[in-house]
Amino acid sequence: MTKVALLRCSEYQEELLRAQIEQALELIDYRLPDLSGKTVLLKPNILAAAPPESAVCTHPLVVKVLIRLFQENGAKVWVGDSPAIETLTRAAKHAGVLEVVDATGAELVDFSEVVEVDVPAGRIVKKLPLAKPVVEADYVVSVAKLKTHGLTRYTGAVKNLFGCIPGKRKAQFHLRMSEIHDFAGLLVDIHSAVAPNLVVVDGIVGMEGAGPRNGRPRRAESLIVSTDGHSADLVAGRLIGLSPAQIPTLRSAIRSGILNPEEVLVVGETPESFGLVGRFELPPDTRGLSVYLPGFILRRLTNLLTAKPVPVPERCIGCGICAQSCPPQVISIVNQKVNFDYTDCIRCYCCQELCPHGAISIKTSWLSRLFESR
Ligand code: SF4
Ligand code: SF4
Repeated sequence: MTKVALLRCSEYQEELLRAQIEQALELIDYRLPDLSGKTVLLKPNILAAAPPESAVCTHPLVVKVLIRLFQENGAKVWVGDSPAIETLTRAAKHAGVLEVVDATGAELVDFSEVVEVDVPAGRIVKKLPLAKPVVEADYVVSVAKLKTHGLTRYTGAVKNLFGCIPGKRKAQFHLRMSEIHDFAGLLVDIHSAVAPNLVVVDGIVGMEGAGPRNGRPRRAESLIVSTDGHSADLVAGRLIGLSPAQIPTLRSAIRSGILNPEEVLVVGETPESFGLVGRFELPPDTRGLSVYLPGFILRRLTNLLTAKPVPVPERCIGCGICAQSCPPQVISIVNQKVNFDYTDCIRCYCCQELCPHGAISIKTSWLSRLFESR
């Protein structure tokens, strides 16, 4: 059995967070190892330069409490991520993470240097370019944010580790793995390669709707702690009303035999007791019918079967961030407005994810809506 602690936590308050994390570790029967002289890498979600109240990034106080916890256990603590567009320093500064790193004497580590690692058990890849600190750290913690996501429907402990792939290589993977099954398999392989020792999901204020960047902050008053990312995500899914079949990484992990939902034991609160199921706004199922069809048919019918990114012209300021983030470069800025060429659009939704102005929404096709399963 893999234990997952699910605790109620209603505010970002340092002493409360510390007490809840310690209680969670006790509940899952996990004692921190002696980390004297070792390096611990905390990998929060620092997607973009967005303030804590926007719920885009892991809350800085969660990061601070974990830094202190590991420092007290003798470790040197690194905090790192690879934001989508901005530099880590800029994104961490706006997210409030830089301040807690400086205040605690931890170190912000850049993810630009790469180490190629073998992934012998990988189902999709046998090698991965991981950020050097991820490989060099003795102990890794995925410190995720509970959010909805246009492509993967939910982002938490496992999807958070996509940030361990430095910079533009993320876009290359989107191009190579344009089918959601493949992309989910890649995320599962990344999780296996990084093999985090501990995962903490900040769901105190999560994000619903058009996540992971332009959704609404939503109080979920929850903190999830486990030694396994898939198990933590399974519980987060139950919390907000997504079954394993609706979360591509869970589907992939179950199919690969990495996760058996029957062997996950929730300790602490029950997911149902939070009352979020049916009341937490989920993103549309962007793949619609595509999950039932083979790839060669799918490629011909992409425009009919999968949801597409569409402009919200009144919000677009023509900044071009979406065009920079589009892996196949099918976005142009015409007369200061975003313009899509759907012919080669791979439906990765990076544009929707990264537009800082909420000027791209996702439109589900009428055919997909007929089959949408929520
Ligand atoms: S859609 Fe968003 S990211 Fe793209 S140009 Fe408009 S405002 Fe900028
Ligand atoms: S237009 Fe948007 S969804 Fe399409 S490939 Fe580019 S970033 Fe991905």
